[in-house]
Amino acid sequence: FCRETKTFRSLRPAAALPPESLPLSAAGFAFSLLPSPLPSNPALVDAATGAALSFSELLSRTRSLAAALRSASVGLSPGAVAFVLAPPSFDVPVLYLALLSVGAVVSPANPLSTPAEIAHQIRLCKPSVAFVAAAAASKIPSHVRTLVLDSPSLRSLYTRPPEQEEGEEVVRQSDAAAILYSSGTTGRVKGVVLSHRNFIALIAGYHAARTAALAEAAAVEPPAVALFTIPLFHVFGFFMLLRAAALGETTVLMERFEFGAMLRAVEAYRVTFVPAAPPLLVALAKSEVALRHDLSSLRVIAVGGAPLGREVAELFAARFPDVEIVQGYGLTESAGGGSATMGAEESRRYGSVGRIVANLEAKIVDPTSGQVLGPGEQGELWIRGPTIMKGYICDEQATASTLDSEGWLKTGDLCYFDDDGFLFIVDRLKELIKYKAYQVPPAELERILQSHKEIADAAVIPYPDEEAGQIPMAFIVKQQGSTLTAQQAMDFVAKQVAPYKKIRRVAFVNSIPKSAAGKILRRELVDYALLIPSSN
Ligand code: AMP
Repeated sequence: FCRETKTFRSLRPAAALPPESLPLSAAGFAFSLLPSPLPSNPALVDAATGAALSFSELLSRTRSLAAALRSASVGLSPGAVAFVLAPPSFDVPVLYLALLSVGAVVSPANPLSTPAEIAHQIRLCKPSVAFVAAAAASKIPSHVRTLVLDSPSLRSLYTRPPEQEEGEEVVRQSDAAAILYSSGTTGRVKGVVLSHRNFIALIAGYHAARTAALAEAAAVEPPAVALFTIPLFHVFGFFMLLRAAALGETTVLMERFEFGAMLRAVEAYRVTFVPAAPPLLVALAKSEVALRHDLSSLRVIAVGGAPLGREVAELFAARFPDVEIVQGYGLTESAGGGSATMGAEESRRYGSVGRIVANLEAKIVDPTSGQVLGPGEQGELWIRGPTIMKGYICDEQATASTLDSEGWLKTGDLCYFDDDGFLFIVDRLKELIKYKAYQVPPAELERILQSHKEIADAAVIPYPDEEAGQIPMAFIVKQQGSTLTAQQAMDFVAKQVAPYKKIRRVAFVNSIPKSAAGKILRRELVDYALLIPSSN
């Protein structure tokens, strides 16, 4: 923390970046993103069938597809946007890498989106072409040229030898690489434009961290076997996929996530690393089925995207003492970069999302006065560095109110740093509940509820109240066989919080609606709350 500028700087090993003037092909990205020599472990494994793709096959498929994308048959020029709508399969990494290397802009969305959601995303990104899994093809508006990703004709493009490459256009690092969609759990979904440089910087940070860790351990570790439970269209999965390719790790893909299948995959492929959203950690910490599998290969589970309670982390650590929990924080707007814990000691600082990553600066700003605050003080987190987005597509107003003229990204998250530079996320500013004059962070109450033995999951939302303005209301999913009452749940929380934070209304439900990245869909619950009678 620098007292003069009141800025927090990263304590991580600085990551050297290639000069910005180098074209993409020379900057260690796209094809040249893959390590050289190519690793001998598989690049991709299909969890359901065990089929594997080697790194050399991944490279040759990517080269062939890239050449075909550039050629007259597809005719994609640099800067053209490619919308992608497909569940995880080997086709997706090949497509992403090929699109990135020809300078096309990858814009992937959730294949489970409704046609209206897709129409909104397509209005924003204006694609030249959509690559779509056959099952989702009907969701694409008819005016968009559509190529079916899992069709024999498309697959033939990457199994034939690459065409002669002539007069390639130069792709710059500053050019757009991807348009990813922000979660929009509180507002309308926005298209976040990220550059190649953003991802180069992010991956350079991982390289630097791994080099430092290996030097410290003085040992050669086999490449990680990573099982992806996170979607490839969300920033977390998107950058993790690029990271795995760059570090030569094996990626195990599951076409559809299912907890039992995931446990079987960990056992079958001796998975060492699982990037995940918090609900998975909760399931691993609490479910009985998890105990019936041999998960001894697991070394690291990286969680991010939504809050993870200290109690859940402790339950998990008690059950899996040899597994390191890496807690991370990031946003689509920062290409997923933000903060993370590093190493076993830091991972036990439950409740913190670690220290800010290499090459990033941060400050904490009072959202009302605009005053810059120091360690221990709560305010909005602003971050600046080479992973911050170019802006929102087709939304100058939102871009101007999120990115300031000095390059600071206003995250919208209420946070603080402790004296050791560890970051704590209190909640999203927009999601705070206003009880009388007080601000109540729902995430804090959710963490307490989730720590209850008889509660499988919980969400807290504002409920309109004439006298108080809003009161905290909890949606609770009980563990099987539990007889927990609304009053008991309210008392459990009341004992642990200041009186203004008490839960004052409860509804029991079968599940909590969540986004594919594990974020609670609060707007849905707010609407639903008005329709149901209270159970207390
Ligand atoms: P998205 O860009 O859709 O991934 O959403 C980013 C937002 O997710 C952040 O602004 C935070 O509000 C939230 N978020 C991400 N990681 C964490 C975390 N580790 N703990 C709490 N909230 C998080």
